[in-house]
Amino acid sequence: MTKKREVDGFSKVVADIEDYVAFEIEEGRSEVEMDGAVIAELGVPPPAARAAAEAELAKPAKPAKPAKPAVTSASMVSAATASAGSAIWSDLAAVAADIAGCTKCELHKTRTNTVPGAGSPHPEILFVGEAPGADEDAQGIPFVGRAGKLLTKMIEAMGYQRDDVFIANIAKCRPPANRKPEPEEMELCIPYLKGQIALLSPRVIVCLGATATEGLLGLTGITSLRGTWHTFEGIDVMPTFHPSYLLRKPGAKKEVWKDLQAVLTHIGRPIPPVPDREA
Ligand code: SF4
Repeated sequence: MTKKREVDGFSKVVADIEDYVAFEIEEGRSEVEMDGAVIAELGVPPPAARAAAEAELAKPAKPAKPAKPAVTSASMVSAATASAGSAIWSDLAAVAADIAGCTKCELHKTRTNTVPGAGSPHPEILFVGEAPGADEDAQGIPFVGRAGKLLTKMIEAMGYQRDDVFIANIAKCRPPANRKPEPEEMELCIPYLKGQIALLSPRVIVCLGATATEGLLGLTGITSLRGTWHTFEGIDVMPTFHPSYLLRKPGAKKEVWKDLQAVLTHIGRPIPPVPDREA
């Protein structure tokens, strides 16, 4: 019985990884990041242990060169939680104006429009996505493509209109070919989102997908993080799946709906009846 449960658990992890990898490939990415807990669950030794074992087999081993320090999740967290520095904005328009003139990272070279975010200046909920796509880049408005239409349905299913909430992204310029923003790009851009959060002061932030969760919280593994509460500078944060993922895996909508129901309960809002199948 115990063995069967272990096998079932292993199969679920493998299925989750397959879904995740398929989604990332469809998004045009060639590399994926994997949560350490998931790797441990699969029984794969951690990199340090693997390296030690390989070194043992390869004796006499040459001393390894020290790796070049990389921008890690930890540094992204420090960027996200650090002060926005000298950039203290008086209002959302001032943040958007600075974003419009920003050339801090390479993404400014290929953008058509910056996409600072849109919505109520006093929202109960702030939705944070990854970065603009082609439609958003063309219009300068967040979440207006297919995924955006689904997000609008999700917001309406919660009993709000789009204008009642605020919608923004971790990166304000479109990455070429819709690739994931690089850690350095997220690190350079996060002060704008941090400034917006300070001005908006939402009751809850909903992180849409893995990149938003990593960029804001410095945590990886959206499959295990979704549906669990976190905090960013005293504001409650709920990670859930990105609407793009739901377009490819409609079966996950019920999990997202559970997460959104938890958000409504958290802020004392009534839960509307179950949305129809298209929502
Ligand atoms: S992505 Fe952010 S940091 Fe990079 S150029 Fe655009 S606004 Fe500036």
